[in-house]
This record gives sequence, C-alpha cells and structure tokens, in this order.
Amino acid sequence: MSITTIDWHARAAQLSLDGRAFIGGERRAALAEESFDCISPIDARVLGRVARCQAADVDAAVASARAAFDDGRWARKSPVARKRTLLAFAEKIMAAREELALLETLDMGKPIQFSMSVDVPAAARCVAWYAEAIDKVYGEIAPTGLNALGLIQREAMGVIGAIVPWNYPMIMAAWKLAPALAAGNSVVLKPSEKSPLTALRLAELALAAGLPAGVFNVVPGYGTEAGEALALHPDVDAIGFTGSTRVGRKMLEYASRSNLKRVYNELGGKSAFLVFPDFDDLERCAKTVAASMFFNQGESCNAPSRLLVHESIADDFAKRVAAEAPNYRPANPLDAKTVMGALVDDGQLRTVMGYIDVGHQEGARLLTGGTRALGESGGYYVLPTVFDGVRNDMRIAREEIFGPVLCIIRFKDEAEAIALANDSSYGLQASVWSSHIDRAHRVARALRAGTVHVNQYDEDDITVPFGGYKQSGNGRDKSLHALDKYTELKTTWLRINP
Ligand code: NAD
Repeated sequence: MSITTIDWHARAAQLSLDGRAFIGGERRAALAEESFDCISPIDARVLGRVARCQAADVDAAVASARAAFDDGRWARKSPVARKRTLLAFAEKIMAAREELALLETLDMGKPIQFSMSVDVPAAARCVAWYAEAIDKVYGEIAPTGLNALGLIQREAMGVIGAIVPWNYPMIMAAWKLAPALAAGNSVVLKPSEKSPLTALRLAELALAAGLPAGVFNVVPGYGTEAGEALALHPDVDAIGFTGSTRVGRKMLEYASRSNLKRVYNELGGKSAFLVFPDFDDLERCAKTVAASMFFNQGESCNAPSRLLVHESIADDFAKRVAAEAPNYRPANPLDAKTVMGALVDDGQLRTVMGYIDVGHQEGARLLTGGTRALGESGGYYVLPTVFDGVRNDMRIAREEIFGPVLCIIRFKDEAEAIALANDSSYGLQASVWSSHIDRAHRVARALRAGTVHVNQYDEDDITVPFGGYKQSGNGRDKSLHALDKYTELKTTWLRINP
C-alpha cells in the first residue's frame, strides 16, 4: 500500500503499546514497577506507559548481556553466521516498516513520509551493511623478523552501553547497535525517554530474527536514572553515546568515576554554510540550505544553522531563503504530505521559543517565522524561522538551538568567512558553495569539521564516517571506522623455531 493511501490517523487510534523493558529476551516491567507517560508531541496525547528503569533494571540488563557474551552464544559464532542473523534482522525491520514508522512519528513528531522513506530504511540498511561487512574484515600479520609471528586481530569488546537521543531514534540506535552486534558484542540500549517506542520493537524483531536472548537489551527510562546507571556500570566495557555536549561531558566523568570504560561521544553542532558570490546557482543553494535546515523540524545535529553569506549578495540571498520558509510550514505529521512536523515535547518548544526571544533581544532581524503554529492541536509546532543581521558572537549563533531557526551572518572576504566558520566550540559539519575550484578546495581544507560538503548538503551514506571535531565529539559512527569503537586490538606473538 502506498503511503498516501494509508490512513495513519486510523492506525494510530488502534495502536496498543507495550512499554515494558526488554531484558534477557523478554519483556519485563521495571523492578520498582514504576512507569512514565509516553506523550505524543503531535497533540499531547498520552500514547501509553513506559517502564521507568533504574539502577536495578540496568544491573539485570548488564548481567544478561554479560552472561550472553561470556558463554559465546553470539560472540563466538562465526562472522558469516552473525551476518545471516543480522541480515534477517534487517529484513524484519523492513517488513515492519509501516508499524515502526508510525511509532516513530507518534513518539517524536516527525512527518510520517520521512519515517517511512528515511528512518526505517536507513536503520535497516545500517544493520544490513554491517552484517555484509563483518565477514570481510581481515586481521594483519606484522612485518617482523623470521623467528616470530605477530598476529594482530580485532576482538569483540564485551558489553556495550548505547545511549541515544530522540531526534532520529531508530537511526541513532542502529548506528551503535549494528557495528557493535556485528563485531560480536552484547548491547544494552538506553533510548531517550522522549522516544523509547521503536527501540523496544527493534529488540523484539532482533530476537525474532534469531539473535540469541540476552545479546540485545533495552532499558527505557530517564537519563539521570537508567542512563547514569548504565554509564557508571562497572561491567560495561564501552559507552556509545549520542546526545548533547552537556551530557557528553558527564559520560567522560562517569567513566572516570567507574571503570574507565571507553567513551565515544557524538555530540552537538552549529554547522556553518558558506556562500560565496561566485557560485552560479544561488536558487539551488537557497533551496538546499532551507531544506537542510528545516528537515526534521531543525532537530538535526548537522543542521546548517549558521548561514554565512558574502555581503555583496546577502540581501538578495536572504530574501531567497526567507521565501523558501513557507514551504516548510508545520502540519499534522500523520498527514502523508506534511514536510515539517512537531517539536519533540513542550520542553523543546520552550527552548526554541526562548532562543527566538534571545535573538530579538540581541538585535537580530526576524525575516520570517518566529511564532508557534497549530496551537489548537495541543501539539508543539514552530514556524520555520530566519534571522538576518546575526553576529557570530550572539548566543543564537553560538549555542545549539535544535529547532527550525536559521541565523544569517555576513562576511567580507574568504579569510573572514573561514574565521567565522571555525569560531565555534563545535565542528560537526560545514558546507562551502563556490564555482571556483581552487576556492572550494582551499576553504574545504581550512574548515575544522568532520564532514565538509562542497556545493551540496544532502549527500549521506552509511559508507562514510559521521562525527565531529572539537566539542562535537570523538570517534566516528558509520563506515568501517565504527568497528574500531566496539573492538579491542589484540596482538598474539608466536615463536617460530629456525
Ligand atoms: P541529551 O544529551 O539530553 O540526551 C541524550 C541521551 O542521554 C538520552 O537518552 C538521555 O536520556 C540521556 N541522558 C540525559 N542525561 C543523562 C545523564 N545525566 N546520564 C546519562 N544519560 C543521560 O540529548 P537529546 O536532547 O536527547 O538529543 C539532542 C542532542 O543530540 C543534540 O545536541 C544533538 O546535536 C545531538 N545529536 C548528535 C548527533 C551526532 O551524531 N553527533 C546525532 C543526533 C543528535
């Protein structure tokens, strides 16, 4: 059935949720029997109750993951056997596409068309990609003298704690899960309390695909309870964290207070999008910055939220971008044609509206948006918003807003553009637009960011690493590089008698 013919509202009305944790291959209520409301940002409706896991539940999940790791029910399977199971898991994700897409949209407010076309297929592709990769990863033999053999191998690490945010719940979970499981680890996943539903279903689908019980556990709950207990746990070998820079700092602290577990942080961003006057298609450039900024309600770590434009074209370019904004007017996420949905919750709505106030107070000029929308729905919607006349030292240019707010900053020349772009505590992504090949390369080299786009912003693929410089994090998700995070490098020396 095509997405336009599905009555998502009717399906949402019929939905019955199981919000219990997933530990040791089965659903369990939290040991303290506590739960919390799962609220849809679409209309503030309570979708159901979700287990509020605490330290005791995390202990049970880690014990189950450890037992599964130690007896080798997954870790000691051959890579080709792990591949088959994970490919079956990916197929099950795609077979459950409509259900997972509906849960994702109801839970965090993104348009159903993107849950269907982006989130579910990307999560499945990620799982399938690491499945396909894992029986093609070779070890090394060191170039030593003749009387010795030095074997260098990658081994599964043990129990991986994955703590993920709400903006792409399934994709962020898959970026951790897939390489960690493919390498033979056990995983305890802590989804965001704002979007726990798809993680719980993913665990059921993995079990149904043949992943042994205990290898993949899910502990929903609050960050300061379940999240903290997982990151402090002495029997967790590594934490794969995606979230805010504020909480990323805590991850390092938890590791130092506990067992010095590896910590891989994928954190916030304030990505710069540089437009030079020599670029020959400003219309496409304006459409791209609007589409990239307002996708996912602006709740993307890599949203190009600082638009740096040469002063000679800035007035014209600002008009073009502002003219794009109405194309992203929020609407009900369950309607098939909606392109911008609801912010994740009332807290995020208050944060975004607070930053819009700050923008006014700092003297930035509002070109479009700046107000709530669809208030009668009870949900959390904000119009796509563009501020012009922003200075790079304003709070709206320095702090991650994580909502549909674009800041336009003007520059005089190439050197100033690079200096402004790099003058940020973040370094996740950047983009340079120029028809001059030397300039494009020169500027791309000078930008301190994990990914630099040239004359585009949309390209993305599981085959390339994703992560940032500076306070945008360490380590990389995606690509074969992610396997480094969830494996230990072991050297085995053998003596060869002459
Ligand atoms: P967040 O840091 O508030 O929460 C992320 C996760 O950490 C959640 O599961 C939360 O429950 C948990 N958590 C919160 N406090 C905790 C604590 N004290 N101890 C342990 N766990 C805790 O972030 P968020 O609001 O969910 O997500 C938005 C952030 O994620 C943005 O900063 C965004 O840029 C970032 N992000 C980064 C990437 C990337 O790949 N670099 C991708 C997506 C999102």
